[in-house]
Amino acid sequence: MSKTAIITGSGRGIGAAIAKRLAKDGFNIVINELSEEAGQQTAEECRALGVKAEVYAADVSDYAQCEEMVKKAKEEFGTLDVLVNNAGITRDGLLLRMSEENYDAVIRINQKSVFNMTKLVGAIMLRQKSGSIVNLASVAGLYGNAGQMNYSASKGAVIAMTKTAAKELGSRGIRVNAVAPGFIQTPMTDKLTDEQKNAILGQIAMKRYGQPEEIANVVAFLCGENSSYVTGQIIEISGGLSM
Ligand code: NAP
Repeated sequence: MSKTAIITGSGRGIGAAIAKRLAKDGFNIVINELSEEAGQQTAEECRALGVKAEVYAADVSDYAQCEEMVKKAKEEFGTLDVLVNNAGITRDGLLLRMSEENYDAVIRINQKSVFNMTKLVGAIMLRQKSGSIVNLASVAGLYGNAGQMNYSASKGAVIAMTKTAAKELGSRGIRVNAVAPGFIQTPMTDKLTDEQKNAILGQIAMKRYGQPEEIANVVAFLCGENSSYVTGQIIEISGGLSM
């Protein structure tokens, strides 16, 4: 039986690139988005690579919606071998101007979603005694970033959750790792001002922004057999933003 990967928030950006990269590696693909329409293009592109792909709409910050999605995906695909916790949002603002609503929204979507999905898919992987989980952290979670108190907190938590899950699940053949991207060109970063983009560019050793496919390649390595003895690790992919 072919292996199946579930990637949250995979209708566009980094998630869509990961879905297509894993499809190339032969994984059947479960695409998650807030709405079914938003995931259809990724699904078609994965099917064109010769694998099965379905879209399941769910807000990953909501445990009940995740439970329903994981149940349906397991029934349809038979196994869930890879989980990529990719869905995420930003609601930037300096601390004193940040609303409680924007703080809570980012924590719920970027952090609680990882608890929801890791618990639900992890239970299936425990029964299978195998699996690989990859979380999307960020350099903001490693070093902090002015204007991103909410986002940095959520991604710092994702790093801690990655290590905790790796310790809990390792003895059962389940590996848990994270990638920490720097500045990657996606709809998430398109909304930054030119001034903000130039300031970031000045700090990158390679003097260019990253592409979603450059994140997907490392995620694919962590999902597959070539990283069979790697767990609990955070791999920074930032073109040398910090060293
Ligand atoms: P993006 O282009 O904004 O895509 C995020 C995806 O997540 C969208 O498809 C979005 O769906 C989906 N999503 C948002 N909230 C959701 C929810 N509650 N339930 C289900 N899906 C949801 O972002 P990206 O740049 O590809 O980022 C992907 C991941 O990488 C995020 O975790 C982000 O924090 C991380 N990251 C990105 C960068 C970067 O420079 N781009 C750097 C470091 C880390 P809708 O289209 O419906 O909103």
